[in-house]
Amino acid sequence: MESCIFCKIAGREIPTHFIHEDELAVSFKDIAPQAPVHVLVIPRLHVASLNELHDQNLLGHLLLVAQKTAEKIGLLQYRLVINTGADAGQAVFHLHLHLLGGRKLAWPPG
Ligand code: AMP
Repeated sequence: MESCIFCKIAGREIPTHFIHEDELAVSFKDIAPQAPVHVLVIPRLHVASLNELHDQNLLGHLLLVAQKTAEKIGLLQYRLVINTGADAGQAVFHLHLHLLGGRKLAWPPG
């Protein structure tokens, strides 16, 4: 999708260091980290939110990319968050998993 910032990142229109990259997904640091480690995992395919994802292989792949990304950066304990819809805090409408860690995280997040 032309105007989508995460499509531009995945397509290398916006130069970004990828922690993990494969044919289906990429991961990279969040520009405004909410924890000492804050990485985003996104599919290359434009999917607006989790509500629009019906491909269980891609969904499973994204979880494995999050796992591999955490392993690559030495993060043993982490939280995965998928904000779905504006009221849940979703601001970018290209599906992404937040990989958060590097400090003790409170629960519930509020
Ligand atoms: P959400 O609120 O769940 O939609 O999360 C969107 C996330 O994307 C936020 O944590 C932003 O800081 C992050 N973000 C937005 N633009 C960029 C960018 N160009 N590079 C990296 N992260 C970004």
